[in-house]
Amino acid sequence: MDRTELMKEKKRIVVKVGSSTLTHEETGDMNLTTMERLVRILTDLSNSGKEVVLVSSGAIAVGRKTMNIAERPKEQDLKQACAAIGQSRLMMVYERLFAEYNKVPAQVLITKDTMINDRMRRNARSTFMRLLAMGTIPVVNENDTVATDEIEFGDNDTLSAIVAALIHADLLIVLSDQDGFFTDDPRTNPDAKLVEEITYITDELEAMAKGAGSDVGTGGMAAKISAARVANDAGADMVIANGNDMNNLRRVLEGKNIGTLFRAHRNENFHLIDYLQRKAHS
Ligand code: GLU
Repeated sequence: MDRTELMKEKKRIVVKVGSSTLTHEETGDMNLTTMERLVRILTDLSNSGKEVVLVSSGAIAVGRKTMNIAERPKEQDLKQACAAIGQSRLMMVYERLFAEYNKVPAQVLITKDTMINDRMRRNARSTFMRLLAMGTIPVVNENDTVATDEIEFGDNDTLSAIVAALIHADLLIVLSDQDGFFTDDPRTNPDAKLVEEITYITDELEAMAKGAGSDVGTGGMAAKISAARVANDAGADMVIANGNDMNNLRRVLEGKNIGTLFRAHRNENFHLIDYLQRKAHS
C-alpha cells in the first residue's frame, strides 16, 4: 500500500512535538507561529472526523524562560518547579490558540506509575476514550512536577509511543528537529542518507541510532527508535519528520514521501504492561 492510501485509512493519530520545535532556538521563547500552525492542522484533522492526541513537551523550557533561568536546570526541584510554571503557561497558550478555532483541548499529565498500575492505566485509557468521543484534543505531557528520576519516562518520544499503544492509535507522528532517520549523523557526515522507510527495526539499526545525531531535546534519535519499536509492535505506523516546517505535518498526513516511515507489524507477543514493567526495572 502506498503512503497516500496508508494515511487515508488512519483514524486515531498521536502527534508528538518537542521543546526544540515549540521554542525559538535563539531566545528560548515560544514559537507562536509554529504553535498556531500546529493547532490549526490538528483542529482541521479533528474536524475531518479523525481522533487526535497531541503529546507536547515544553513545560520545563517554558518555565525556565518565564523565570529567566539561563541554564538548563539540573537540580530536581528546580526542574520540577520550572515544569509547574511552564506547563500551565503552555496550556494557556494552547487554550487560546484552540479557542480561535472553537476546539477544546484537554490536559492529561502522566507518570510512569499511572501506566504501571493496572487500575490507573485502565482509568487513563477510558478517560482518553471519553475525551476523544467528546471531540476534544487531549494534550499530554509527563507530569514533570511530581515525577522523580526513578519514576519518570524522561523523554516524550517514549511517552508518545506508550500513549499510542494505550489508546490503540494507528499512527504516531514524531516531529523532530531533524528530517528523519539518517544512516549517520547528517551534521558531521555529509554522506549520511535519509532512510525513507523502515519495515523492521533490527538491533543493528538501534545501534546505528545511538551514533546518529541526537537532537537538542531529551529524546535524541535512539529514543525515537525505541519509541518506534513500541509503536510498531503495538500496531501503529510511526513517522519521524522535521517539525521546524509545520507544513511537514500536513504533508505526512497527505501521504507525501517525507521523513522516515516505520511500518507497523503487530506483534501478538507485545503487551504494554510487560514492556512497562521491564522499563520500570531498567
Ligand atoms: N516533559 C518534558 C517537558 O515538557 C520534556 C521531555 C522531552 O523533552 O522529551 O519539558
